[in-house]
Parts: sequence; C-alpha cells; structure tokens
Amino acid sequence: MKSLNRRTFLAGSAALLAAPAVRANAQSGDVDVLIVGAGAAGIAAARKLAAAGRSFTLLEASPRIGGRCITDTTSFNVPFDRGAHWIHAPDVNPLTKLAQRTGLDIYPAPSGQRVRVGRRNARESELEDYLAAVVRSHRAIDTAARGKTDMSCAQALPNDLGEWRPAVEFALGPYGTSKDLTELSAQDFSKSVERDVGAFCRQGYGALLARLADGIPAETETPVTEIDTAQRGRIVATTPRGSLNGSYMIVTASIGVLASGKIKFDRAGLPKRQLDAIDRLKLGSFDHIALDLPGNPLGLQRDDLVFEKATDRRTAALLANVSGTSLTLVEVAGRFGRELAARGEAAMGDFATEWLGNLFGTDVKRAVKRTRATQWNADPWTLGAFSAAAPGGQWARRALMEPVRDRIYFAGEAAHETLWGTVGGAWESGERAADAVLRRLAGAPAPPPPRTEQEAAPTPQQRRQQQRGKAQAKQQPEPKPQPAKQKQQRKLRRVRE
Ligand SMILES: Cc1cc2nc3c(=O)[nH]c(=O)nc-3n(C[C@H](O)[C@H](O)[C@H](O)COP(=O)(O)OP(=O)(O)OC[C@H]3O[C@@H](n4cnc5c(N)ncnc54)[C@H](O)[C@@H]3O)c2cc1C
Repeated sequence: MKSLNRRTFLAGSAALLAAPAVRANAQSGDVDVLIVGAGAAGIAAARKLAAAGRSFTLLEASPRIGGRCITDTTSFNVPFDRGAHWIHAPDVNPLTKLAQRTGLDIYPAPSGQRVRVGRRNARESELEDYLAAVVRSHRAIDTAARGKTDMSCAQALPNDLGEWRPAVEFALGPYGTSKDLTELSAQDFSKSVERDVGAFCRQGYGALLARLADGIPAETETPVTEIDTAQRGRIVATTPRGSLNGSYMIVTASIGVLASGKIKFDRAGLPKRQLDAIDRLKLGSFDHIALDLPGNPLGLQRDDLVFEKATDRRTAALLANVSGTSLTLVEVAGRFGRELAARGEAAMGDFATEWLGNLFGTDVKRAVKRTRATQWNADPWTLGAFSAAAPGGQWARRALMEPVRDRIYFAGEAAHETLWGTVGGAWESGERAADAVLRRLAGAPAPPPPRTEQEAAPTPQQRRQQQRGKAQAKQQPEPKPQPAKQKQQRKLRRVRE
C-alpha cells in the first residue's frame, strides 16, 4: 500500500511527463486541482488537466482505478466486465475514437435481440407484436415528456400492452435504466440517447478504460472523508493519510456515495439545491450473474442478447457467449434485482440457473462450471448501479453540474443529460468539469453564482402543482424527438428470430 506524501506525489507527477507547472506546484505540496474518484469521469478530467500542464492529485478510495468500469481477469480465464460492458452509442461516445489508438479490439455488437416464449424462440408475428409494444411505449413516454409536468414512465405507458407489458416494462425500466418504470422520470428517460446500438471491447471495457489511464498517477486506498472550503482561495481534502490542498476540486464519487454522507462538505454541508439533486438522482440496481458455460449448451451465437416474454417482474436478460467465449451473463436489475442481490451470490446463481433452465430446457446447473455475481449495491465506494431521475427530477442533472462555492465541480455519469448511466457520459462530464476548472485557472471570470436556496425553491405555481401531487415543471428545452416511424423501423431491423 502506497502512502500519500509529497514524495509519492512527486513520483506520480513525474510519470505524467506533464508540463513544468506540475513540478512547480508539487514542490509546494499544493496542486491546482484535487480530483475525487478515479472512475471514467476522474480519469477523463485528469487527462485534460495533464494535457493542459496543470497539477492535480487523483484520489481514489478503493485499491483500484476504474470505478464501475472494471474488467476482472481472475474470476474466469476470460475477461469479465463487472460493471460496464457495452460501449453505448458508439457514434457519439467519446471513448470510441480514443479506443482506436489503444490497439484493443473493438467490434460492433450484433444488431438485434432474441425473445424466448417459454422454451422456444418467439415467432415473427410475436416479435413484431413485442417490438410494436416497445416502440409505442417509447412514443408514449416521449409524448408525456413534452407535457408541462413530468410523470413516471409507468404512468405514461399505453394501457393496452396486454401480455407483453411485463417484458416491455423490464426492457425499458430495469434493464435499460436500473430502475422500475414507476420510479423513473419520463423526461429523464426521453432525453437519454438511444442505447440500442453498441460495440464491445474484446479485452473488456474496463481494460479499455485502464489503458486510457496509462501514465495518470492515482493515489489509491485514499478515501476523501471531508472537504473544506473555509480557507480563502484554497480547498482542503481530508483523507486517512493526511490533508491535501488544491485551488479547485472535481468530485466524481457516485450519487450513492454522495447520498451516504461518507464525504462531509464543510460544516454547513452541501447547499440544499445539490442535496435535493442528489436525492432525485438516486442509483438504481443492476448486477451481472456470470456463468462459465463451456460447449455452448444454450445453442446461442456470440454476444446474443436474449429477453423472455416475462409474466412478472421476476425476469432477467441474457448476454450469451461474451466475445465468443464460454462466459454468459444473466442480468438482473431494478427492484427485483435489488431484492435478489441482497440475498447473496448463492441465491443469485440459483436464480440464474433456474431461469435459464426454464427458457432453454437444458440442465444448465450441470453445464455451469463456475458462477460469480456482482453486488454493486453493497460496494462501499459505489452503493448502487447508475443514476436515473425520479419523476419530476430531471432538473437535478443540471443542478449537479453547477459549481458549489465556486470551487467544487461535480462530475460523473449522473451529471450528464443524455448519456447518463454510461461510461461515455461519465467521461464527457469529467472533461467538461476539467474544462471549466481550466478556464478558471486561466483567469476567466467566475461563472454566474449558483442559485440561492430561495431561487432554487419551487415557485408558488410549482408548489401548487406539487401540492396537487404533480412533479416539478421541467426547466430545460426538450431535444427534438426522433420521428416515431424512423425509430420503429430501426427497432424492427434490429430484431432477429
Ligand atoms: C452492473 C453495471 C453495468 C453497467 N453497464 C454499462 C454498460 O454496459 N455501458 C455503459 O456505458 N455503462 C454501464 N454502466 C454504467 C457505468 O459503469 C457508469 O456510468 C460509469 O462507469 C460511471 O463512471 P463515474 O466516473 O461517473 O463513476 P465511478 O465509476 O463510480 O467512479 C467514481 C470513483 O470514485 C471513487 N470514490 C468514491 N468515493 C470516494 C471518496 N470518498 N474518495 C475517493 N474516491 C472515491 C470510487 O471508488 C470510484 O472509483 C454499468 C454500471 C453497472 C454497475
């Protein structure tokens, strides 16, 4: 275990091959920027600051970097992404371009999904019904999101989804966002970029992120417990290894950690606006139950994505033969996933084998050579999967992006309006926070002060709406919705029998 002192900091800075500013500031023991958390957002911020020749210290609570994007190479003899695996929206994902320079093998995900009806594949007509139900639900949520007040996605769903309702609810809710539709803002859902096109990294998404962090020094096993802005012009971070000084700070700890109170912000705490934002963006639940299934007993293809025509919320998704290996992932999420994960790894493994057995009629239990399950809700430095705004809470993403006391910038997946819940979104938010700090360091005038609590408080009209049980009015202009027909055609193309 490395200890945090001036010597290790100097050594780390030297590894950066960065501009003289790094060394000059390091000698005084102070840095321009303290970064809390070495996940995608923290790494992206650090790279930006390094490229600009600014000094920084990257503080990471856990023994490793990567956060929720980590590839496990020891549990199986193939890479197992314990968190993020899909390179979502590769066209707009900042990591796609960067990946090209790493030499890692990135390839497009198959463009489709299968649906099981009991022990058989869905027929073409059934697939069409399912997809039409998915498309109609998307459209209904988009329409609801354009209304004056927000509502839950569940409220916005069409009433006539019939026997496809549980499958649609799972695909759009727990599987897509880590929360059940009842807990999900229609506006937040509608703003998010479509994630049905993806790519994979054969060596693992976590391996890709780690490659992008090459040469960036991080102080691991150094949790920040307190942040103090009382000193004029400085910000002080307290860790079990001592205190550090910076001019600015970028905080990338997950919403789960921020909500837990593990980090104390001054005596006064965070402003109410930020506290409310954190509360509205609470993390959902998403876990992988990973099975080593040699010999392809399910008879599926490489990276086949499979859903079932579920009858209730006790369902999952399957990603088979990951990158052509024997690794298969059963994905559990939302309220059911949370309850299951709380029962422990053994219960998760039992569910996965029983579920697969019901769908494929195979004695999966006998075929499974090894099982591992993630439990992100219990991970002390994450405390959940990813953020999804509660009904009426879409405003919270912007609020989280506002600097606090002119020195603290929040970044991370939750601080992105369209790519929330993704590595790409976390990366962009880290870069954005670093850009903002760089502007301040270059002497640019302070941005408009954060709104006071009074300004942030609901207007009388909003209060009346809330009293009537309605959610807070939306504060951002809506992105142009994609024409529904185009969406439907793309979806239909992506389904295979
Ligand atoms: C099971 C699962 C599957 C997912 N699948 C996908 C997917 O397929 N594609 C996709 O794009 N996204 C996916 N995601 C979401 C994606 O992983 C996250 O959005 C992204 O990795 C978040 O990055 P971040 O930097 O915002 O936060 P994090 O990765 O959580 O990084 C924050 C870091 O801060 C550290 N930290 C916390 N508290 C402190 C403290 N007090 N002091 C110092 N350090 C601290 C943490 O240890 C962590 O390393 C998935 C997530 C999960 C859990």
